[in-house]
Amino acid sequence: MERGLNSDGVKGVAFHRRADLWHRVAELGRAAREEVSAERELPDSLPFRSWLYPAKGGGRTIPIFKVLLSNVCNGHCLYCANRGGRDCPRYSLKPEEMARAFLQALQAGLVEGIFLSSSIVDDPTRTMERLVATAEIIRHRYGFRGYLHLKIMPGAEDAVIERAVELADRVSINLEAPGRERLRRICPEKDFDGIIGHMRKMGQLIRRGKGRAKAQTTQFVLGASGESDREFLHLMPLLYRDLGLRRCYFEAFRPVPGTPLEDRPAEDPLRQRRLYQASFLIRDYGFSPEELPVDERGNLLRDVDPKLAWAMGHPEFFPVEINRAEPEELLRVPGFGPRTVSKILSLRSKGRIRWDDLKGLRIQLRRAAPFILADGKSHDLSSTQVHRPR
Ligand code: SF4
Repeated sequence: MERGLNSDGVKGVAFHRRADLWHRVAELGRAAREEVSAERELPDSLPFRSWLYPAKGGGRTIPIFKVLLSNVCNGHCLYCANRGGRDCPRYSLKPEEMARAFLQALQAGLVEGIFLSSSIVDDPTRTMERLVATAEIIRHRYGFRGYLHLKIMPGAEDAVIERAVELADRVSINLEAPGRERLRRICPEKDFDGIIGHMRKMGQLIRRGKGRAKAQTTQFVLGASGESDREFLHLMPLLYRDLGLRRCYFEAFRPVPGTPLEDRPAEDPLRQRRLYQASFLIRDYGFSPEELPVDERGNLLRDVDPKLAWAMGHPEFFPVEINRAEPEELLRVPGFGPRTVSKILSLRSKGRIRWDDLKGLRIQLRRAAPFILADGKSHDLSSTQVHRPR
C-alpha cells in the first residue's frame, strides 16, 4: 500500500484508485462549509481536506469529518451556495461510499468523529433515510462507537428522525431565522413551526433516553433576513429552557455570488460575538431577554459586552459582598462565570473571603473588582495582578 501524502491530500493510505470518490468527498466537504454563506477559508496546508473540521467537545478540540452527502438541492434558501438552480458543480455520495471514505480517514488517524449533513435532494424523508443509512453502516458494520452528529432535514417523518436520535450522539436542525415571517423570507420552503415541532419531539426522545443522542443544537444565519438581535434573544428561552437545546450557533452572513442576496453586505462578525455572549447569559446566567440592553433598533451594543452593559446600567445592584451574595447575584458580576462562582462558594465554605484569598483563584479580578466587596472592603486596583483568560 502506498504511504505518504497522495493526490487527495490524505496521508498514509493509498486512495489514488478512488480518486473520483475523494474528489467528491473534497467537493462535498467544501459544500458543507459553503452551506451558510461564502466559503470559509481553508488553511493553505489543507487544500484538499475541506472535510476536516475542528470540533470542540469535552474541553478539547477533536478533528471531525464534516461532509454533505449531497449538494443537490430542491430548496431555494436565498443566501445558500447550494440552493437549487444556482450554477455550481453538484456531487452526491451513496451511503456506502460515504461510510467507506469516513472509515479510511478514521484509519489514517485524520479524524475522530463525523458530522453528516445533506442538501435536500428529493424530499426530506428520503434524504434523511440516506443519512441514517450511512450512520447505520458506520455504527453497525464498522462498529464505530465514537462521535457521530446527524443533521435533521426539516419536514422529515418522525420514524426516520427517531432512528437518527438512536444512532447519533448529537442531532441538530437549523432554524435559520428567528421567526415565522423571517424564515419565510429567506427559506420559502421551510416551515418554522414544523422545525420547532421536530425540536420538541427530539427533546422528548433525548430526555427519555430513547437513543444515543444526548443533545440537540440549532443554527441561525445572522443578518440574512433583516432581523434584529432582540428577535433572537426572545427566542432563546423557548430553545434553551422549554426545548432543552444544548446550544444555538450564529453564523454571520456572507454573500455568495449567484444568489439573490449576492449584493447584501457581509454581517459584522462582532455582532455574532455579542449574540453568543447574550445567548449564554440567558442559558447559563439567569438573564431574561428583556434585561439585556439593546439600541433603538433592537440590537445589542457593539462596543461593550452585554453583561457589562447590564451592570453599568444597574448601579443599585452593586457592589455585591462576595461573602454573602447568592449564587445568582454573583453570576451577575462582570468577569464571573459559573466556574468562578463555584470556586468562590467553595472558598466561602471554609471561612470569610478576603481580597488576598481571591488572588490565587485565577479569576478576572480587575474586571470584577469595581462590582464587588470582600469582607466589606472595596479593592485597590493598582495592587491587582491581572489574570487574562486564555
Ligand atoms: S435546504 Fe436551503 S440551506 Fe439547505 S442546502 Fe438547500 S438551499 Fe441550502
